[in-house]
Amino acid sequence: MSSNCQDVIIGLEVHIQLTNLKTKLFCSCNADYRGANPNTFNCPICLGLPGSLPTINKRAIEFATRLALALDCKINNLTYFFRKNYFYVDLPKGFQISQYNKAGGKAFADGGKITIKLNGIKKDIILNRIHLEEDPARLVHKGSIATSPYTLVDYNRSGVCLIEIVTEPVIASPGEAREYLKQLKSIVQYTGISDLDLTGAARVDANISIKGHKRSEVKNINSFKEVERALKWEIQRQRHLLKRGKELPQETRHWDDKRRITISLRSKEFEEDYRYFPEQDLVPIVITEDFIQKVNDELPEMPSERSVRLSRDYNLSEFDSENLVLDKDIADFYEEGVNLDPSFGLKEFKQFCNWLMNDVSRKLNEENKVLKDTKLHPKQLVDLIHYIKEGKITTKIGKSFIDEMMEGTSISNIIDSKGKKRISNEEIIEKYCVEAINENPKIVEDFYTNPKAIEALIGKVMGKTRGQADPGITREIMNKLLEEE
Ligand SMILES: [Zn+2]
Repeated sequence: MSSNCQDVIIGLEVHIQLTNLKTKLFCSCNADYRGANPNTFNCPICLGLPGSLPTINKRAIEFATRLALALDCKINNLTYFFRKNYFYVDLPKGFQISQYNKAGGKAFADGGKITIKLNGIKKDIILNRIHLEEDPARLVHKGSIATSPYTLVDYNRSGVCLIEIVTEPVIASPGEAREYLKQLKSIVQYTGISDLDLTGAARVDANISIKGHKRSEVKNINSFKEVERALKWEIQRQRHLLKRGKELPQETRHWDDKRRITISLRSKEFEEDYRYFPEQDLVPIVITEDFIQKVNDELPEMPSERSVRLSRDYNLSEFDSENLVLDKDIADFYEEGVNLDPSFGLKEFKQFCNWLMNDVSRKLNEENKVLKDTKLHPKQLVDLIHYIKEGKITTKIGKSFIDEMMEGTSISNIIDSKGKKRISNEEIIEKYCVEAINENPKIVEDFYTNPKAIEALIGKVMGKTRGQADPGITREIMNKLLEEE
């Protein structure tokens, strides 16, 4: 099915944990719950005990301001928190403290946009709003949710700070959604508010409809990688039903990432079901222009700005620089590397980029890793480029070093251990050539009627040297010896 259908309407709600906050949104409990013993990072506030009083984490406000500025949103100077009421085991209070842009409330910030590029065409994905809310507890099942005999609840996650980013329904295909999430992830990384590579740090709900029909909301897409797949599946499902003359109900569906299908959870709940009302235990949040200005002044360089700068400073193509800046760690690695060696010029800037974006990135993708999971260091790529330039190793041999480089081994150590230095010593090569000639009289005889037989003799030398003999020198010597025969 074409992913570029004109009649598909998608809106995304992305929940991001601010994993770089040390404490939770409304209490001082440790927010770094991953790997901790269950139900050990708790206090009366995040357990929702009666009479406990929340207080806002100021740093969370600063982080939200950073993201709002990076996404070009309009920050509201006065906002309140609301109680979103619903009854579920992951929510001990019976309500979630969130923000609400109706009933006199306002989101943390309105509007904003992310520019994507798909098949060379730019498009602005317009945002509706971003707001802060608390994460519910984590439910743990044995195996699949459908077959687990019990549900365990870990309240360590309860009260961790989430930021929700809501787009307008302007995404026209699963491919656009993928590009949007790629850019969003990049911007979040540059703001320094969260590490979205952590499991569960990003969760997506998607509203999907075919123009003129009711929409379904697919919940629980628990990683960015799953979103495109879930959207494709859901669009196909809706089209099939319409083709068979059925009408689509408005409903909430669940993405089952094991079976890779969406399943109906319940008919869609409406906003009034949540009985939103103001959270009286928290004071209104006032954000002054001075504060916004201060956060703005400290805002790091964003990927779009960096792309322009890299393209200018290192003479990279738009394609190269845009790919390079996507992952901040990769871009940092690049800049550190090309500045390590003063002899590097335009040619090396491009070579370094190619090694990083082709060979290293391919290996990272294959192993489902990011740069910081490896011990790769920029100096290794600098050395690799030098060794190849000086003819000590071939590019092909260099490519076979990537695995060991990722273990942190220096290029000279890899060469020593593999003995993969290119043999360009003429005396050594001549010795192997003589051997090849003496051992293969039949091929030598052929050579005088068919000069192409020299290839077979060169192949014998390559076999003897495990591919290390310089092919150019070998051919020259072999020719000379055969003519002397
Ligand atoms: Zn707590």
